Amino acid sequence: MILSGKWVVTFQRGVGLVEDGAVLVEGNVIKDVGPKERIVKENPGEDIIEFPKSVIMPGLICAHCHAYGAFARGMPLKVEPPTRFVEILERIWWHLDKRLTLDDVYYSGLVTAIEAVRHGTTTMFDHHASPFAITGSLERLAEAFRKVGVRANIAYEVSDRDGLDRAEEGIRENVEFIKRHQGDEFITGSFGLHAQLTLSDETLEKVVEAAKGLDTGFHIHVAEGVEDVFDSLKKSGRRVVERLWGAGILGEKTIAAHCVHTNERELRILKDTGTNVVHNPESNMNNAVGVAPVVRMMELGIRPALGTDGFTMDMFREAKVAYTLHKLHMADPRVMGADKVLEMLYHNNSELAAKYFTKPLGKIVPGAFADLMVLSYRPYTPVHEGNFPWHFIFGMDASHVTDVVVDGKFVVRNGELLTVDEEQIFEEAKELAQALWDRL
Ligand SMILES: [Zn+2]
Repeated sequence: MILSGKWVVTFQRGVGLVEDGAVLVEGNVIKDVGPKERIVKENPGEDIIEFPKSVIMPGLICAHCHAYGAFARGMPLKVEPPTRFVEILERIWWHLDKRLTLDDVYYSGLVTAIEAVRHGTTTMFDHHASPFAITGSLERLAEAFRKVGVRANIAYEVSDRDGLDRAEEGIRENVEFIKRHQGDEFITGSFGLHAQLTLSDETLEKVVEAAKGLDTGFHIHVAEGVEDVFDSLKKSGRRVVERLWGAGILGEKTIAAHCVHTNERELRILKDTGTNVVHNPESNMNNAVGVAPVVRMMELGIRPALGTDGFTMDMFREAKVAYTLHKLHMADPRVMGADKVLEMLYHNNSELAAKYFTKPLGKIVPGAFADLMVLSYRPYTPVHEGNFPWHFIFGMDASHVTDVVVDGKFVVRNGELLTVDEEQIFEEAKELAQALWDRL
């Protein structure tokens, strides 16, 4: 099929804006992209779906999120409100995740994937925890993402916090899932670790051993709160990035979420090891943990990706917050242009996704997976290659998303979700959420 639009934004190099453009999709892959006139002429008889006033863009990638947190929305807090990061973990997230059943995990995955794809997100990197329902949890999540039609890389957060048996079970869950999904085009695995503050040297040794030969990196929270730094110094005499580096956790395929409390030396280690950093600005603001040194990272040549940490499923909003936060933080309006935000959102997320999927993602190029979103966007100022990022930040949001194609198939068409009955799923999810809240 051919999808044509007023603009096609390829992100092949820079923005890659094609006016009156078209995308040729064959099976689950993009075959060609360029001016509509040429694509139509060269492919006679091909079905054409026209979006004459819309923008066609690559589907968005969320580089770090937690579907398991879905039922926290509106959850009653039955304890004193947390005052700092570790209390947020203990009183909210670890309170919730210990009570999750495999059915809760499945429905959290369904509602998260529904919300994500409705906001134009077609690929997610999910970091999962359900310490009393570990075995089989990643497969239930995979089932949920597949059913809704969202591509995903999934990891289980190994941690010592609930004892060594559960740490071992988490390791097995990662290993089995990664093996089972090797070569899978739609769902892949990575090796999840919670954070250095809940991992002993012995467990770190075990995970490095278990990951051997799996062609995977680790997906881990790094220096999210300052407590992580204190804990690392106390345990090892080294800061977080240094401890993880020494343990063999960093590398080209490792995903280091947050990296808020990292100094210059640590940033250089992240750069030299090729470790992927994921910036989650809204979550960091919400947890009051600080601001990641993203501007400095980019100066050093680190290529931070963008994620939501599950705070939202809206990557448009995350991009807007990344755009404003660093200016305020550094008291300098020059430090974060819209072009830099789109570099993170598109180029860096695409680069990370390429390490875990068999074909390119996050750009419209021949040979890439056909994951696209269509936005009904009517600009009242001129649009061109140079100013497109500012149109994206100031003019576009998820409410403009009308259609979403994942793996060559429409998942959202004219605003309607085609793959699942979302009303029914939301009703069933509500019952499970209430039952979970009753167990808190
Ligand atoms: Zn996280």
